[in-house]
Amino acid sequence: MKEPVYFIKTADQEPDDLVAGKLRKLIEEKNLFGFIEKNDMIAVKTHFGETPKSGYIRPLHIKVIGDLVKEKKGKPFLTETSTLYKGNRNNALDHIAHAHNQGFGYEATGMPVIMADGLYGDEEAVVDVPGKLYSSVNIASLVKKIQGMVVASHFTGHLGAGFGAALKNLGMGLSSRKGKMTQHSTARPSIIVKKCTRCGMCVKWCPAEAVTLNEASAVIDSVKCIGCGQCLAVCRFDAVGYNWGATYDDLQKKVVEHAWGVHRVLEKKIIYINYLTRISKDCDCMTVYEKIVPDIGVLVSADPVAIDAASLDLVEQAGGKGLGDLAYDIPYRVQLEYAREIGFGSDGYNLIEA
Ligand code: SF4
Ligand code: SF4
Repeated sequence: MKEPVYFIKTADQEPDDLVAGKLRKLIEEKNLFGFIEKNDMIAVKTHFGETPKSGYIRPLHIKVIGDLVKEKKGKPFLTETSTLYKGNRNNALDHIAHAHNQGFGYEATGMPVIMADGLYGDEEAVVDVPGKLYSSVNIASLVKKIQGMVVASHFTGHLGAGFGAALKNLGMGLSSRKGKMTQHSTARPSIIVKKCTRCGMCVKWCPAEAVTLNEASAVIDSVKCIGCGQCLAVCRFDAVGYNWGATYDDLQKKVVEHAWGVHRVLEKKIIYINYLTRISKDCDCMTVYEKIVPDIGVLVSADPVAIDAASLDLVEQAGGKGLGDLAYDIPYRVQLEYAREIGFGSDGYNLIEA
């Protein structure tokens, strides 16, 4: 079955208020929030960006989503989960303060921020999933307590998954700390001694305290390492090697099965909005934003696989080449192909331009 994917085209760098206005019109005209019933607790899942310079979805768009939920008499709130790595998003208090600093305060969005995985990222629910890798996955506990969700995802390249959009926002972004560790469990970095300046950034950021400094370079304890890739992300000297070749398949498949676990909990009461604007080579966890294609538009669908497939095709059309040439040269279609292989999502999409 070809799942409908609604598409609003935008010009490059079109002002956010104009884009948000178009999105409001689409959602109202097609009654895309029609699944929301009075007093439903509706989570709006997004990513607040690592710094004001990353390409995350701006608060103005998130406010419009919250307003539309309220117009359906639902009760919206913003939600996120703690990161595995150290920094300003690895527990609820720091993450909520960070959200405010990034412009997602109540006064700006009209919604409180409530963490989906509790104070420390360990509040979880184990949900069944008919996958090939897992029979159950560990997701943020709040997912089971709400009545619906709007998943607002920013399409970006990603050095492990090829790209991140709805599936990654759902699978990694709504799993508990344990779920995240499971997904990262097979990737292992190594230090390129000649390049290492002993700056210590990887030591500071490693969530597993697996990195120390010796006289020549940083050193990774492979027993303690959980494969989160944070050392790779924070090293400014390209001194961390990461064998993605052995792991990208594994990571993408695990993300998909965790995403399926979340999606199955909410089924008909979840909708996905992908923003194909400020599209960057790296995900919004990075501090800088390197644009790879002009802005394209915003997509809405009830199916995370269909919306990600349509998003990827539109990005490649806009860039005039494959995502491997635009961002990271790794097999980035694994997540879509695997989702279809295990029966998650539709096997095609019907792009409807609004
Ligand atoms: S961040 Fe990079 S350069 Fe700095 S200590 Fe770690 S590996 Fe070496
Ligand atoms: S050494 Fe392992 S656990 Fe530590 S940051 Fe690197 S990948 Fe993550």
